[in-house]
Amino acid sequence: MKNEKKKIGLSSQIFIGLIGGAIVGLIFNYLIPQSYIRDVVFVDGLFYILGQGFIRLMQMLVVPLVFCSLVCGSMAIGDTKQLGKVGVRTIIFYLITTALAITVALSVANIINPGIGLNMGNIQAADNVTVATKTSFSQTMLNIIPTNIFYGLTNGKMLQVIFFALFVGIILTRLDDKASTVSNFFSEFNDVMMEMTMLVMKAAPYGVFCLIARTFASTGFSAFVPMLKYMGSVLLALFVQCFFVYTILLKTSTGLSPVVFIKKFFPVMAFAFSTATSNATIPLSIETLKDKLGVSKKISSFTIPLGATINMDGTSIMQGVAVVFAAQAYGIDLSMLDYLTVIGTATIASIGTAGVPSVGLITLTMVFNSVGLPIEAIALIMGIDRILDMTRTAVNITGDAICTTVIANSNKQVDKDTFYKKFEKDAI
Ligand code: ASP
Repeated sequence: MKNEKKKIGLSSQIFIGLIGGAIVGLIFNYLIPQSYIRDVVFVDGLFYILGQGFIRLMQMLVVPLVFCSLVCGSMAIGDTKQLGKVGVRTIIFYLITTALAITVALSVANIINPGIGLNMGNIQAADNVTVATKTSFSQTMLNIIPTNIFYGLTNGKMLQVIFFALFVGIILTRLDDKASTVSNFFSEFNDVMMEMTMLVMKAAPYGVFCLIARTFASTGFSAFVPMLKYMGSVLLALFVQCFFVYTILLKTSTGLSPVVFIKKFFPVMAFAFSTATSNATIPLSIETLKDKLGVSKKISSFTIPLGATINMDGTSIMQGVAVVFAAQAYGIDLSMLDYLTVIGTATIASIGTAGVPSVGLITLTMVFNSVGLPIEAIALIMGIDRILDMTRTAVNITGDAICTTVIANSNKQVDKDTFYKKFEKDAI
């Protein structure tokens, strides 16, 4: 958390990269006539090499980052054995809300159609964009089980990597002290990968500048509207999840007032919004649930940290919308099976996303890979991601708190007097 100031600085830099890239791209498109210098040296030379170099750095992170963070994530799940039924129910609830969130995202995105009009397929035709070949349902299911994990790792078969990582995490929990060296190795390697991610993200302003400049040099103004539509779709889907899905879930499964809940929990949402870091909100969330909403710490001290690690509904909403955006921008048709695959992989990506800023963008590459979408599309949305990251983090932690309240209520661990007690506007 000590880098928080720097991170905010970096987001502004990325945003400046986006705006700068758009301006330079537009100047190239409208004001500079076709020439060797413009097209070969800049657009297909410098911009292409630096932009692609950055994308390759991001791709380099995916397999090790997801692998380590899933091993650690499933070690955390392994601990739920101690909590028995509560643990299992919490995890099921988390998975269901995440799947619901992606469904909301896919529906909103299919109504707004954010990527239509971008025609990236034409621009990128020369870039050897790799699009995976489609396979049948039974084969897709079978392909989750690796026959050789090293093949899966080296070829970026993300579902196989996930399957194996979850397995390793579960076994490590079972072996406990007997495998503490291996467990520590994965936790520490996870830290290494997080640090590497932060370093690679430092190159993001330049990478985004080059990628956007190249896009706008080729598309002109027609790229603006789709990007705004993408942002609008993510925000709308986040709003629906937070103020409809969650409130209905809370009301129907506990009878408690969603209005009281949101009012009292709002400072925690504001804190998550300003830091874009689920992990940082854990203490405040537990305290608020206990002091203002009467939710027993016995439950929340387990479910809130677990949720901050594995339950990212807001992140998966961004990923769902991004999938539709990219598919439309590149003119790729997604089948029903593709959508189901997206629901599955984005749910798992949410487990693999650490509760710190921007990681949702890295795990997005894994969702794109699963349905054969070009990773290049992520560059388009990266420049405007910070504000979405802030908003989705607020939704991420609200999802954890709603689930915690539902589970606690079913265990008679919510003090209704405290829940409905008029709250003073005390300091947070
Ligand atoms: N910033 C998010 C969180 O901390 C993760 C992400 O979506 O990048 O919850």
